[in-house]
Amino acid sequence: MTAIILDQIAGKLPLWVEDSRKCSSEGRVASYIPELSKAPTEALGIHLLDGSGRSASAGDCGLSFTMQSISKVFTLILALIENGEEAVFHKVGMEPTGDNFNSMLKLELVRPGIPFNPLINAGAIAISSLIGGRNAEEKSARTLQFFRSLAGNDSLECDEDVRRSESETANLNRSMAYLLKDNGVLEGDVEEVLAVYFHHCSISVTCADLARMALVLAFDGVDPIKGERLIPRRYVQIAKTFMTTCGMYNASGEFAIQVGLPAKSGVSGGILTLVPGQYGIGVVGPALNAKGNSIAGVQLLETMSRELDLSMF
Ligand code: GLU
Repeated sequence: MTAIILDQIAGKLPLWVEDSRKCSSEGRVASYIPELSKAPTEALGIHLLDGSGRSASAGDCGLSFTMQSISKVFTLILALIENGEEAVFHKVGMEPTGDNFNSMLKLELVRPGIPFNPLINAGAIAISSLIGGRNAEEKSARTLQFFRSLAGNDSLECDEDVRRSESETANLNRSMAYLLKDNGVLEGDVEEVLAVYFHHCSISVTCADLARMALVLAFDGVDPIKGERLIPRRYVQIAKTFMTTCGMYNASGEFAIQVGLPAKSGVSGGILTLVPGQYGIGVVGPALNAKGNSIAGVQLLETMSRELDLSMF
């Protein structure tokens, strides 16, 4: 990996974005949450932020979108802060599954019936039940506050239309949560846990917000712009390891080979990634490939990694 100089890439970024944007017509916007299907198929944007607060962006970086699975990285970190490693890994495992992100297959097949990792839906729902607070409202408020502090943006909010749309159509997640309750994984009321989960998946961000959150991970838990530690180093290490092994659904191995950076994507087409010690990066491209990752976003990151020699490996 080589150090990348912002001025050197600022000129090339728009060209790489326009080149990668072309493949968005081969992808499809997620529609199983009906509200997500309204996203613009051809959009592609990127924002990079360095430790001194300098940034570069290109394309549709002003687009707002919901975090979806990207939020799972940060609820994991919040659950670790509030409960410690032992309690968290009593409820979720540490291994990739090779199954779909919303599969409940192994919850019945493999004992003790805990989710394989915190980034698949079952694992993230289990993590939602570990967030502190007396009820769903308090847990959601605490989560939103944590996300706002990481993004350095007090105006982050949940997109109520997306949250409602998911809640009304979440038959699979709902079945999974009830199975988790029966397996003894979920604490408390199942509908309350699901409400916390739908809320954090529906927090609305831009690429700049993702880049700022990623920057904290790139600097091992310290916000370099404010000079403030926000996350213990060990928990960032855990989060980045999960991002590397299972952050990009069942294309995590391929992404590690082609891009070589810790990353997490979501069904709304967002990707959060980082260059350790250097940059936080936020990308959005709502059209997804067959593995569920932003088709143009992955292509853009592959190009950047190759051209700038960004791989950690
Ligand atoms: N809220 C989405 C779901 O539970 C998140 C999925 C994702 O982004 O992978 O289906």
